[in-house]
Amino acid sequence: MHEERTLILVKPDGVSQGHIGEVITRLERKGYRIEALKVTNATRAQLDQHYEDKVDKPFYPEMVKYMQEGPIVAIIAAGISVVSVFRRMAGKTNVSEADFGTIRGDFGREWGDGIIRNVVHSSDSVEHAEREIAIWFELKNVCF
Ligand code: GDP
Ligand code: MG
Repeated sequence: MHEERTLILVKPDGVSQGHIGEVITRLERKGYRIEALKVTNATRAQLDQHYEDKVDKPFYPEMVKYMQEGPIVAIIAAGISVVSVFRRMAGKTNVSEADFGTIRGDFGREWGDGIIRNVVHSSDSVEHAEREIAIWFELKNVCF
């Protein structure tokens, strides 16, 4: 067991619906440390890097539209097993299947346009977390 970091994004629906505080509160309530936090607007270049495994999917243009609907909040959270534990706190990708008690289950909903707006992103591995942190915080003009 050792300290690790994860990258959390409060997505545009989470920001516009007023859930920034709730995400922060849940992190703090669980005892995780917030190492960095900022409000920003996702650029196309950042999204192409962040979602490199999705750029060729037919729904990728919808994802870009969604992620650029408004500002997002990027958070670096740290603690023991924070990557896997925050994934469980976030809940399932599909908001209508996400368990109540999870962020997506409590605050996410479908809007009838086919876009999966699910309130938060969280890294799925320590390796991906470090890669994603570089995209949103540390490295400018980086090429992956
Ligand atoms: P996550 O790790 O739970 O966020 O899920 P994935 O890594 O599988 O997908 C990343 C994000 O892409 C999801 O959170 C959704 O916003 C979006 N996404 C994934 N699959 C679909 C899909 O089939 N249709 C649409 N419109 N968006 C999707
Ligand atoms: Mg993912």
